[in-house]
Amino acid sequence: MHATATPNVEPAAMPASPKPKLGPLGAQPALSETAAMVQQTVHRFAEEVLRPVGIRLDKLTPDEVIAPDSPFWKARKQYLDLGFTIESIFELEPSERAEVLCVLFEELGWGDAGLAISIGAGLLPAFMAAAFGNRFLMERFPDTMLGCWGITEPDHGSDSLDANRMIFHPQGNYGRPNCVATLDGDAVVINGQKSAWVSNGTIAEVCILYCAADSGNGPDSRRGCAVYVPMDAPGVSRGKPLDKMGQRALNQGEIYFDNVRLSKDYLLAGPDDYLTAVYAIHTFANSIMATVFTGTARSAYELALDYAHERKQGGLPIIRHQSVAHRLFHLARKVECSRALAQRVVHYNLTNDPPALHAGMMAKITSTQHAFEVASDALQIFGGNGLTREYPIEKILRDARASLIEDGCNEVLAIKGGAYLVDEERA
Ligand SMILES: Cc1cc2nc3c(=O)[nH]c(=O)nc-3n(C[C@H](O)[C@H](O)[C@H](O)COP(=O)(O)OP(=O)(O)OC[C@H]3O[C@@H](n4cnc5c(N)ncnc54)[C@H](O)[C@@H]3O)c2cc1C
Repeated sequence: MHATATPNVEPAAMPASPKPKLGPLGAQPALSETAAMVQQTVHRFAEEVLRPVGIRLDKLTPDEVIAPDSPFWKARKQYLDLGFTIESIFELEPSERAEVLCVLFEELGWGDAGLAISIGAGLLPAFMAAAFGNRFLMERFPDTMLGCWGITEPDHGSDSLDANRMIFHPQGNYGRPNCVATLDGDAVVINGQKSAWVSNGTIAEVCILYCAADSGNGPDSRRGCAVYVPMDAPGVSRGKPLDKMGQRALNQGEIYFDNVRLSKDYLLAGPDDYLTAVYAIHTFANSIMATVFTGTARSAYELALDYAHERKQGGLPIIRHQSVAHRLFHLARKVECSRALAQRVVHYNLTNDPPALHAGMMAKITSTQHAFEVASDALQIFGGNGLTREYPIEKILRDARASLIEDGCNEVLAIKGGAYLVDEERA
């Protein structure tokens, strides 16, 4: 028998049963000073401006959302006044840029998904010009100009996002593109239209247009081009703002091009670089969508958590009922999981060349699917109240539903993501 040794170290000063509280970003590793400042500033903006404005816009008609006296415009100006310009973001080294973009877009998505997407899509032309290092386009189209990204067409949704035809059906036929840019000497001449789904489509000041190109042998959607179109150029017109079930604060609508003639200086990518340009924007857009819908999921979770502490049934706050606490735990778990993957993927994609589109797809699918599930379960915790427009949870559920289709239907993204896993040398 051995005598028990007396430990010569003082036990750590920890209560027998610790119950630490996680912060708003959950089990988040310490943020850099800049990212922490961005997170706090944007959270305040999301709480005081985006969320209340988003709730008001949700109840308006699509025309009212963009009317000159709409709160949409004031909120946009207030966002620009925060000063988080593309230029300042590009001054950060890539890993800090990734950190800042993640907290920025999570907080915007926490405030309102539709307005977060409006801001994100609005920045895409400036972001892509900076990412491609195109000085002329950066100066001609600064991020104070509201942007949009036109790629999908009435006859081409999922297939326009599969520009390299990686998952094209063997018996399929792309058919006619709805929009074609003819490359004519030093000019680009655009004819046709983009789909009603273009975010900011009826209000944008600049469109980064991805479409088929005709270099003299007829239109080719695989050898297309990415061209910056000032929306006041002669020949540009727009459709009616789209009326839809979720993200109603996000303006969407068709853009029409009737012999729009631009200098070739407005090309970001010509036919030889088109597939690279589609890959780049889709990777960035999917990765950022993941951060936005992490924020949307978090907003639903936090509302349900508060409600579960306030609402009493059977003489107790409902969170004391184990099934409610259990459900809330899974909501928190899904938010945490979305954030971890979104941050990891944005970091990978901003610090690796080439970035990984399929990693962006994993993050987008995970966050949007979680946002939908979290919003739906959060609504269940609200009981009957959740179904009424008195509470914001039904709106968040509608917003999250749209995200399963936005930026590529999740099932199509997963099919294409699977194709990236195939190793041709082994199978
Ligand atoms: C909120 C929102 C914002 C958007 N913003 C923009 C924007 O800024 N710019 C822009 O250009 N577009 C935008 N879109 C359009 C969006 O990218 C498309 O809606 C999406 O890519 C799907 O295209 P579709 O709607 O034409 O559906 P379709 O492609 O017609 O698909 C219909 C159904 O068929 C299935 N399907 C189609 N092809 C395949 C396939 N190959 N394999 C298996 N199943 C398939 C799909 O999964 C889906 O269920 C936005 C959409 C939404 C909802």
